[in-house]
Amino acid sequence: MEKVRCLIIGSGPAGFTAAIYASRANLSPVLYEGIEPGGQLTTTTQIENFPGYPEGIGGTEMMEDLRRQAQRFGAHVRRGIITSVDLRQRPFHVTVDNEHEIEAESLIVATGASARYLGLESENRFRGMGVSACATCDGFFYRRKDVAVVGGGDTACEEATYLASLCRQVYMIVRKPYLRASKAMQERVFATENIKVLFEQNTAEVLGDDNGVTGARLRHSTTGEETQIAIDGFFLAIGHHPNTELFKGQLELDDEGYIKVWGASSKTSVEGVFAAGDVKDPSYRQAITAAGSGCIAALDCERFLLAQ
Ligand code: NDP
Repeated sequence: MEKVRCLIIGSGPAGFTAAIYASRANLSPVLYEGIEPGGQLTTTTQIENFPGYPEGIGGTEMMEDLRRQAQRFGAHVRRGIITSVDLRQRPFHVTVDNEHEIEAESLIVATGASARYLGLESENRFRGMGVSACATCDGFFYRRKDVAVVGGGDTACEEATYLASLCRQVYMIVRKPYLRASKAMQERVFATENIKVLFEQNTAEVLGDDNGVTGARLRHSTTGEETQIAIDGFFLAIGHHPNTELFKGQLELDDEGYIKVWGASSKTSVEGVFAAGDVKDPSYRQAITAAGSGCIAALDCERFLLAQ
């Protein structure tokens, strides 16, 4: 069985920053990239708010830079998905891809968060055929077409505004009579001519045929009245859920499934396990805050290993 001093799960800004710090501290970290190498940022186009890039940088490009920076100091970055963990005793027992077994003296969890879906059978049926949770990844395919964005938060407004620059008509399907997004984002939406906000509407069904999405059947939140819109693309922007399935029953999670940490530290309910990035952060969820928390996790981990 392979023995590892510091095992990092996840390859977003939190995981790679933890790997940079841990490798510079001679902890010989091993990082598993997980299901989505590079994390959520690889699904965005341009990142303009990460300090140090005055002209902005592509998401994939930035993650490649972080990966190379971690490798430069000796971090072992590997492809692979962690399929089980046993945190009952140290060293922790971890299995990769159901076959490779590792004993880890410490663990940094940076598994991030994933987009939420409505849970409709019809939505599932047309996934990848008009149903998407990433406008910046897939918007390009809907140039001069009509699309809908579900949600009324900042993400939905941002995605609707982005899609409006490509598409003919963008509908926002909002279940409440108001938008939850910040004032600035709301103003941008209301000032965009080809965005129409449909308040108090829920999606009852995504409509389509063999070629993909053709429309959506909507139901009014209070009256129950049903209407249909004709669309080619259906974009979800209703938030994210933390990727913590592996840790249920082993680490303390909050009501929404985010890993609980002690105060400003990265310490979880199990000594020797640290959490960083979106997996423990329901409120900020920025690349820079994730990177900062990756640094904190590596420093906490280093102190823990030194004290052993
Ligand atoms: P939010 O949780 O803020 O918003 C989710 C939206 O989806 C809400 O309008 C919510 O409706 C709606 N929703 C949730 N579930 C359903 C459902 N089942 N059916 C229909 N609608 C649903 O998530 P965001 O991803 O927008 O934002 C997350 C965080 O990231 C926020 O703090 C946000 O400010 C931040 N952010 C900041 C950006 C920026 O500053 N540039 C850009 C993007 C995000 P309801 O209001 O009724 O609950």
